[in-house]
Amino acid sequence: MTDPLLHHQARIDLAAAFRCAARFDMHESIANHFSVALSDDGGRFLLNPVGRHFARIRASELLVLDATNPAALQGPDAPDPTAWHLHAELHQRLPHARCILHTHMANTTALCCLQDFEFLMLDQNACRFYGRIAYDRDYSGMALEASEGQRVARLLGPGKSVLFMGNHGVIVVAPTVAQAFDELYYLEKAAKVQVLALSTGRPLALIPDPVAALACAQWNDYPTRFSEQHFNELKLILDQEEPDYKT
Ligand SMILES: [Zn+2]
Repeated sequence: MTDPLLHHQARIDLAAAFRCAARFDMHESIANHFSVALSDDGGRFLLNPVGRHFARIRASELLVLDATNPAALQGPDAPDPTAWHLHAELHQRLPHARCILHTHMANTTALCCLQDFEFLMLDQNACRFYGRIAYDRDYSGMALEASEGQRVARLLGPGKSVLFMGNHGVIVVAPTVAQAFDELYYLEKAAKVQVLALSTGRPLALIPDPVAALACAQWNDYPTRFSEQHFNELKLILDQEEPDYKT
């Protein structure tokens, strides 16, 4: 993405994703991290600056990083080290994953903490993720080495775009910021339904696999650019209520 206009738009879109994540309580303190690739090979990418609350992030202050240059960790604008190790490795190894979102959002993380849990095909929103979720059941502390990012990249194999990180949180990858944010939003919505339904202790009315697969295909083939429309609406709200995200 050498085109300055595309680079500028990537900054605005990623800043909007941070602001919306804070609005929807999907953030955590000054932690968690989102990135978007700038180069075709994913080697150059935007990432949030260390220590900044999602609700205050501006487009102009996003870091431009080179995934092949670990010296970035030494500079005055060094990124959060766990963010670096995850996003640099994922962008290099999964160039199709243009946008990478990592959060500890509560309902999805709660499900990530259940033993041997697999995401339930429990409601229509859940079906959107049919067959696309990978699971990391080997939590081993914070990602402070490149090897952790490499391990995570291997788990996000072909056809997988969501990683449930056991005892930790979630990673969502997508071709655009709009699609990634829409995924994050619907994942947390579906996870909330599952947490609520599980909390009743009543038997669950699970959707049969063939129906879940059909609903997933229907989500994919829906005759509108749903993710883009959703994200554009969110940006219009931000334009009215907190337009400084674009600056
Ligand atoms: Zn994390």
